[in-house]
This record gives sequence, C-alpha cells and structure tokens, in this order.
Amino acid sequence: MTIRKADSAGFCFGVNRAVNMVYDLLDKKVRVCTLGPIIHNMEMVGELKNMGCRPVESVDEIEPGETLIIRSHGVPKSVTDLLEERGVSYRDATCPFVKKIHRIVADSNADTDIVLIAGNKNHPEVQGIIGNCNCPWQAFNNEAELDEILPNILLQKNKQLIIVAQTTFDTNEWKKSVKKIKKLCTNSKIFDTICNATSVRQNEADEIAAQSDFMIVIGDRHSSNTNKLFDICKKRCPNTVLIETVGELDLEQLRKSRNIGVTAGASTPARIIKEVLDTMSEEIKSGETTNVEESFEELLEESLKNLNTNERVMGTVISIAPNEVQVDVGRKQTGFVPVSELSNDPTVKPEDVVKVGDQIELLIMKTNDQEGT
Ligand code: SF4
Repeated sequence: MTIRKADSAGFCFGVNRAVNMVYDLLDKKVRVCTLGPIIHNMEMVGELKNMGCRPVESVDEIEPGETLIIRSHGVPKSVTDLLEERGVSYRDATCPFVKKIHRIVADSNADTDIVLIAGNKNHPEVQGIIGNCNCPWQAFNNEAELDEILPNILLQKNKQLIIVAQTTFDTNEWKKSVKKIKKLCTNSKIFDTICNATSVRQNEADEIAAQSDFMIVIGDRHSSNTNKLFDICKKRCPNTVLIETVGELDLEQLRKSRNIGVTAGASTPARIIKEVLDTMSEEIKSGETTNVEESFEELLEESLKNLNTNERVMGTVISIAPNEVQVDVGRKQTGFVPVSELSNDPTVKPEDVVKVGDQIELLIMKTNDQEGT
C-alpha cells in the first residue's frame, strides 16, 4: 500500500498571510473581527473565535475599539469606502493576486468595456471583483454558461471584452472558454488571473488522482477551491472522497486500497492534514502486519505442498533412534530418515553414520500433513 500526499496541500500564500495577520493582532491584544470567516474552514474559525477573533457579517456589526480584517478574498470597493467614511480601524488582507484583478477591472471604461468574469458570481471573491468593476459585467462558471451569455455580448459590437478569472477557477474550463472567446470575439483583452498556487494544486491533484484507487481531499465543504479539487480528482479517480476532519476518514476503504492519494484545499490547516495522515499511517502499519503474516502463511503452505515433489532439502539431525533419525527440515513437519536410507550396510547403526546436530542432505519422498511428518 502506498500513500502519496500532494506537496501543494494546505494553506496557500494568501491564506497564510491573512491568518498570520489575525494572530499578529491577537498577540498584541487587539480586539479583532473579520468580515466573514477569515478562511473557509470552520474548525479554524472556531479556534480563532475562542482566541477572541469574531466573524461579522457586515460593517454595521463592528463594535467600537475593534479592528476589522478584510480576508484574502477581498471586498467590493463600496465596503472599503464605507470603512473609510466611518473611520473604522481595518487591515486589508486581500491577497495581492486578487488585488491585481481589482486593478484590472477598475481600469475598465464604463462606456466602451464589458468585464467577463470566469467564476462563481456568488463567491465572495467574485463579488469583490464585481464590486470593483467600473463598467458592466457578466460572469460564467463553465462553458455551458458562457454559451448562454456570449450571444448577447457579441451583439454589442462596439464593446471591448475584458476577461478575468476567479483565482481558483478550473484551469481546464478556463482554457476551453478562452479558446471559444478568441474564436468568436476579436476585440478582447484576456487576463489569465488564475493563481499559480491554484493551478499547481489542481495539476498535482489531477496527476495523483489518476494513479490512485482511493483519493482523499481534505477541506471544508464551504471552500470553493476544495470543492474544485474534489471535482478534478473525482473525474480521474471515481473513488474520491471529501473529508473535513480525521473523524470522517473511512478506515474500511483505506484498508481495501492499494494506492492512496491525499490533497487538501488552500484553507485547510496543516494540523488537520497531519491528523489525517497520522491516522492513516497508524492504520496502514497495523494493516501491513496482517498482510505480511498472511503472505508468510501462504508461502509456508506453498512450501509444504512442494515437500511431495522430490525436493532436496538440508536437514539438521535432532534425535537418533535405533531404527531412524529425526531431522529438522525447516518446516512445521519433522523429517524421519529410516536407517535403511542412511546406509546400504544392514549392520550399520544410525549413530555410526550421524550425530545430533549434523547437517545432512535429504530427498523428500513423502509427507503426511496430518501427522506432521
Ligand atoms: S489561492 Fe492564490 S489568490 Fe487565492 S488566496 Fe491563495 S495565493 Fe491568493
């Protein structure tokens, strides 16, 4: 049984940066709140809550004396405008890669451009992008949705299309969409804004899943990138599962599998990944003991069968009787050598030919499993 864990599993740069920003403020005894959960991992959010960092749903919920952290997904411009207007203390943990998308769409021209976003329009990151657009926008989540909106967009012949992607967008869907857009629309500016960490993670997951008969994706079910990883792996390995914590690990399935792959979303804490891997390795260690024992038994049974087939073996004399010698042949049966087989001379006694401890070469003539000979 083999386990292969993706090197890219776990926190990405942007999430790590945001989480560290929270810890940093908590260390300084600052009262912290985050606009929405800091990451899509309820375990971690719960831990931070216990340490004094509370998630809020809107700017209205921020209490005097609290410092707000904008999470890595970013927010619409209207939110930062409101924070400024109200003089709320805040730190911006928007991932620099997301900020770059904000700049692209903010540079758009309200009269001449349309922003086309490859991503889920309900996801906070995409809502943040939409909220920074300076012109009309449309979003699509896959090729089928693109097909639905493209005809209308193409009717607006004088418009320029500005195309960006949610940082966690599926790279294969992106390639297909870009190919289609390039074919149908000559006036477009295409910005591949899929985060490298995402494509590395997705490609690695794809490769590992293709070689696995059981694939485990660790992450929160609310996490977009975890769900995408799950979809990618499922296409390659039908036996793919998404688990949030070690408690959901299917040990029965684990024991039945030969090649197990493991990956994790960008918001999965290292601690949770480690707990899963530790449990897996403990389970596998106990499973391997069983397997080794089973194969040893099989080998032994196989070897015993061969005792009937004129096999030559070395044996050690363990006792001498008047008319035979007992020999240890390294099997569970004891070998017996009649005195007539020791010498052609009928007057010879066994002790004249061998002594206890002697190694002698033997030819197996017959076995009797029931009697152990
Ligand atoms: S996935 Fe990429 S873009 Fe998103 S937070 Fe992580 S590093 Fe930033």
